[in-house]
Amino acid sequence: AHLARIEAVDEKVHAFLHVDREGALAQARAVDEKRARGERLGPLAGVPLALKDIFTTEGVPTTVGSRILEGWIPPYDATVTRRLKEAGVVILGKTNMDEFAMGSSTENSAFGPTGNPWDLTRIPGGSGGGSAAALASYQAPLAIGTDTGGSIRQPAAVTGTVGVKPTYGGVSRYGMVAFSSSLDQGGPCARTILDAALLHEVIAGHDPLDSTSIDAPVPAVVEAARNGSVAGLRVGVVREFGGEGYQAGVLQRFEEAVGLLRELGAEVVELSCPSFESALAAYYLIAPSECSSNLARFDAMRYGLRIGDDGTRSAEEVTSLTREAGFGAEVKRRIMLGTYALSSGYYDAYYGSAQKARTLVTRDFERAFAQVDVVVAPTTPTTAFPIGERADDPMAMYRADLCTIPVNLAGNAALSLPCGLAPEDGLPVGLQIIAPALADDRLYRVGAAVE
Ligand code: GLN
Repeated sequence: AHLARIEAVDEKVHAFLHVDREGALAQARAVDEKRARGERLGPLAGVPLALKDIFTTEGVPTTVGSRILEGWIPPYDATVTRRLKEAGVVILGKTNMDEFAMGSSTENSAFGPTGNPWDLTRIPGGSGGGSAAALASYQAPLAIGTDTGGSIRQPAAVTGTVGVKPTYGGVSRYGMVAFSSSLDQGGPCARTILDAALLHEVIAGHDPLDSTSIDAPVPAVVEAARNGSVAGLRVGVVREFGGEGYQAGVLQRFEEAVGLLRELGAEVVELSCPSFESALAAYYLIAPSECSSNLARFDAMRYGLRIGDDGTRSAEEVTSLTREAGFGAEVKRRIMLGTYALSSGYYDAYYGSAQKARTLVTRDFERAFAQVDVVVAPTTPTTAFPIGERADDPMAMYRADLCTIPVNLAGNAALSLPCGLAPEDGLPVGLQIIAPALADDRLYRVGAAVE
């Protein structure tokens, strides 16, 4: 049924870069056979899923939204991919994304934009716009995203779906193409809190193949999602999230959500986190710096595209021709910014200062979580904007992640869930819930209470 749905609507939505019809049907059949044999199956066995095209899939193309990986077929599965397969989840295909996960609109994909199912002329968020659009257009009930600065939560917010960024280290990064390794985190996307929790449980947990993977039990997210409650909980509202640049209808729905939390028995505490003002600037030094280092591996020798290799050119020339043709404008911008920020003479002033700002953001969160159990905020300052509107204005694009980026800098857990439609445009608004590291279960307990 989902393959038929994809066939019927994805020409318009363009959520998928690759549909693995044969692979999906084979996995579904394998699950059926296990069921027929009376084997014990997990809760997601046979459930279809859309996988962001940043996770390697053995024998199935993985492009990361870039021309530079054209023609590359990974010889191995990412840990997330492997865990999904072991749980019997049916991977329908790979979803569209901003190239190397750099963007907030999916317009930076080398393979064309994805439409927001609520209004196809608007962006579905990014970088994981394909995964969010697949959910919102009922092409898949589950999806996987990655969140470096907001790429799970922001697409969830603007498509009226649920997206979770687990605690940094909670989900293995093995086989997840690296953008900014100290920030990147894979996580579940779904249409309900409980679905997201069930998926979270399948993909999370320690992985010896990822050196930053947390060696601790996975928080009891499914139990929390089944027992939503906020009675007696202290909920923080951060003064710095709001004001200028925020859409009135987004703030209105957020205030209503805070009202609902109070009604349900939560104690709402107003907080100030002054260093959040520098979070965006710090992120746009740290993320490009790590990206400039991570993307050095795309040298035309090891993977994918190779241009100009006709026997007359040096390896260096082939590398340079390939990178020139294979990377898009935003990726090049980040590689240049990052290389500059890391260069000797500028390192302390740029990268060093950004790391200090990152520490201050982490401390602000620590102070906040000494007073409250969770923090709530709007997920995004505005609803989905029209495709093309911010394409030539990187700063305007970057501001889409104003409320999500501080969480990545600190490594905390956060989710976005729908909290109504903005009155002025009828488009979905997201409520963000933020919990301390390792307390991912709180997100689901609160999310289930207000869903
Ligand atoms: N929009 C942010 C960026 O462009 C975040 C992307 C992400 O989370 N992968 O870097």
